[in-house]
Amino acid sequence: MGKYFGTSGIREVANEKLTPELALKVGKALGTYLGGGTVVIGKDTRTSGEMLKQAVISGLLSTGVDVIDIGLAPTPLTGFAIGLYEADAGVTITASHNPPEYNGIKVWQPNGMAYTPEMENELEAILESGNFRKVAWNEIGTLRRADPKAEYIKKALEMVHLDNSYTVVVDSGNGAGSILSPYLQCELGNRVISLNSHPSGFFVRELEPNAKSLSALAKTVKAMKADIGIAHDGDADRIGVVDDEGNFVEYEVMLSLMAGYMLKKFGKGKIVTTVDAGFALDDYVKPLGGEVIRTRVGDVAVADELARHGGVFGGEPSGTWMIPQWNLTPDGIFAGALVLEMIDRLGPVSELAKEVPRYVTLRAKIPCPNEKKARAMELIAQEVLKTFDYERLIDIDGIRIESEDWWILFRPSGTEPIMRITLEAHTEEKAKELMEKAERLVREAVERA
Ligand code: MG
Repeated sequence: MGKYFGTSGIREVANEKLTPELALKVGKALGTYLGGGTVVIGKDTRTSGEMLKQAVISGLLSTGVDVIDIGLAPTPLTGFAIGLYEADAGVTITASHNPPEYNGIKVWQPNGMAYTPEMENELEAILESGNFRKVAWNEIGTLRRADPKAEYIKKALEMVHLDNSYTVVVDSGNGAGSILSPYLQCELGNRVISLNSHPSGFFVRELEPNAKSLSALAKTVKAMKADIGIAHDGDADRIGVVDDEGNFVEYEVMLSLMAGYMLKKFGKGKIVTTVDAGFALDDYVKPLGGEVIRTRVGDVAVADELARHGGVFGGEPSGTWMIPQWNLTPDGIFAGALVLEMIDRLGPVSELAKEVPRYVTLRAKIPCPNEKKARAMELIAQEVLKTFDYERLIDIDGIRIESEDWWILFRPSGTEPIMRITLEAHTEEKAKELMEKAERLVREAVERA
């Protein structure tokens, strides 16, 4: 991670650290990196969105890059538009689920996946150097506006069909999905009730979809006797689901259900997820012909694996799903259409969820100064062998050790001075026993580091 780009592009408080001046430089740096071509740009609903978008556009135009401005657009629409307009990159002005004072800049590749950390490092080096491409007056880029929503809906309807009509409550959280998500559900033939769909940049609920933030959605689903509730974060790359009984469906459960349905829809193959996903997924998809592959945490890692080695479905246990037959941008809105198709084919989510195995998950945080993290991880790697009798060790992101019926993940936080322990076991007793050992091991490692 560099000075500006973090785990998900640039994300800072707008007009404090993320100023129009910085956004201008990001535009110039991206234009210099590309050396020409076309860039699609969209923004979420935040009050600072237009200010930052205009600055990025100015920077791009000054380097001779043409820009297609699609205006208010959820991240998945920008991802879709890159392919539609055969652009060379995409830019989203969004801070995803962060509070309203934040904003961010995230850059996307032609295949719809986000820029990798290596690509972001290159952008950052150009930005730091101040060595920007500058073209003559007659080569300055052109700007045009476009609205790809109708094409998005048309393409989605070619891939998703419902035999019946359902009552769907959509809670967009006043985010960028406010228009497109209810629109797509209507076009699928459903009766749609829209909540928090005024795209003002002032958020009524916390933007991260969870049981607490979706209490109004849950109540509405019950009151309207709806078949399903669908919610998104600020840029609608994620989906949260409330079932037909008005209960928030745990992310791990939805991940398993959708992976299973994708195997039924598209045929047997690989399911790509991240190292923090539990065993339920493996146990649920194996009988359906699915093979689970785990990558580093983050949508870029999942998309990268899908791009390189293929797969039927990619998803993180945060409601961030990718359907490679669609594109490689995490898409909570298209995901919503697929959830409805799953209900149409297989039955209500409250019933389907009963078939997903549940295990005991425990999480712990151990304080660890940032400068000690690397050494502490080395010590943990040396000591796990003495403490645990495991069968497999995965060290692509932190250290994950696995046995037949439990796993433990040791991982330094990317943003806070803490070490995280996540573990899962079949029984409460086993989970507690493992956590006791794991905590002791991490505390000792941090002390010695
Ligand atoms: Mg997001």
